[in-house]
Amino acid sequence: MAIQWFPGHMNSTKKAIVDRLPDIDVVIELLDARLPGSSANPLLAELTAGKPALKLLNKQDLADAELTALWLAHYQAQPGTNALALDASETAPARQLIPACRALAPLRGGMVKPLRVLICGIPNVGKSTLINTLAGQRAALTGDEPGITKLEQKIVLANDFYLFDTPGMLWPRITVEHSGYHLAASGGIGRNAYDEHEVALALLASVRPRYAERLQARYALGELSTLSDEELLADIGRKRGGLMAGGRVNLQKAAELAINDFRSGAWGRITLETPDEFSTWWAAGQALDAERQARRERRQRSRGRQLPTGHGDSG
Ligand code: GDP
Repeated sequence: MAIQWFPGHMNSTKKAIVDRLPDIDVVIELLDARLPGSSANPLLAELTAGKPALKLLNKQDLADAELTALWLAHYQAQPGTNALALDASETAPARQLIPACRALAPLRGGMVKPLRVLICGIPNVGKSTLINTLAGQRAALTGDEPGITKLEQKIVLANDFYLFDTPGMLWPRITVEHSGYHLAASGGIGRNAYDEHEVALALLASVRPRYAERLQARYALGELSTLSDEELLADIGRKRGGLMAGGRVNLQKAAELAINDFRSGAWGRITLETPDEFSTWWAAGQALDAERQARRERRQRSRGRQLPTGHGDSG
């Protein structure tokens, strides 16, 4: 896989979540509405299994409204789960999360049993923006109370409603190739961790089946169906003056342009994946991962070494 990154503080974040969870009534996961499946953290799903969950599809202003509705229905069909779409900078939709959380934990509320909500999300998904929007003037930010680590802030949204913030946490390992590319394209993975040319090609491949006419309009292109992704990228570069000496297209420049245009919404409102697509990729990624693991175990056995039980991230 082309995407490489270093999880950094993942273990301390994971520990903060695990420590706090027993006292949490609802877990909010902030997702990117353009890539809900890929911007979810599978480790979080594992850690918080069984807790009432609220999925917030943020940046809905950049996402395809029809596909957002599909994703909302997908999450709402899951047990103990609700979902809302929002734009983190807008106050009224953001504050809808309060009644949504109350409905998910109806036995909590009031000063004796305040509702305790954990909010999680990958970096850059808009969590700080949302918290600033929610906090407005009335919220108290407290990081120095006993039991609240530096990693975690408590935001008081109402007298009986506490929101515990956690640092952004990416997948421990990206096992779904499309997800790596979608995360990179949307800005969820640091610039140095991927090759822009490769990410732009994957982005075009994801976008063109649903939004070919947007690309045509944006770059004044002809029919796309006969072009490979590589040819499409080259045409974009050509149209945007990304030519080098000798008339060759500067593909690096074209890639940066395509990625920036996607991020800024210049292609219009676009969603990169549907629930069905993501679940197919997820299943394939899991199968591939299991194969890889089996191969590794066979190699280890043939070398006569014993594998430690439980592999991967042990926190
Ligand atoms: P965090 O790392 O999760 O705290 O993310 P930030 O709150 O810093 O947001 C990352 C970037 O996404 C910033 O440039 C925000 O302005 C932008 N952003 C956050 N929410 C939205 C949203 O709902 N719509 C749009 N268009 N941009 C958003």
